Amino acid sequence: MTSNVIVMTTSASVPTGSPDAPTRAGTVTDRLVEANERYAADFTDPGMDARPVLRVAVVACMDARLDLHAALGLQLGDCHTIRNAGGVVTDDVIRSLTISQRKLGTRSIVLIHHTGCGLESLTEDFRTELEQEIGQRPAWAVESFRDVDQDVRQSMQRVRTSPFLLHTDDVRGFVFDVKTGLLREIDAAA
Ligand SMILES: [Zn+2]
Repeated sequence: MTSNVIVMTTSASVPTGSPDAPTRAGTVTDRLVEANERYAADFTDPGMDARPVLRVAVVACMDARLDLHAALGLQLGDCHTIRNAGGVVTDDVIRSLTISQRKLGTRSIVLIHHTGCGLESLTEDFRTELEQEIGQRPAWAVESFRDVDQDVRQSMQRVRTSPFLLHTDDVRGFVFDVKTGLLREIDAAA
């Protein structure tokens, strides 16, 4: 997630050079559904089962600037992708990783945070703000952070110490630079 509005190239479902596209008739979801019709027209059943070919699960931030398949050279069917705000290893991410490893055969885990993450501009005060606005404090932590490297280390630690996972020997963490597209590996022991 990001706290800034970043002007990027338009998505495949919006014709380039149409700055007024969002105000055209139809919602954004209508455009996605139309894009899907074009996708399905050229789609052929690859005949895969649900087990990721590369036996890897990638946990990453939901940030719109991070195209995991393109950035990692992944093809359809190669991996599980598990994404949330920050790429945080929450209980629900552990749930997905547990199913990924125990039921769908993955063995490796890649954790990807990134530069310019919106969580760096938040604090746990966000929960208090919500409570003051709506009268209810969320049960979840914001999981905001200041040091992205340290946050990747914490995420690796959470994965490696989970009692539910079968394979924790190949867990690596990275920071994706949204300006250069490059991954920088984080040393778990640093
Ligand atoms: Zn982010």
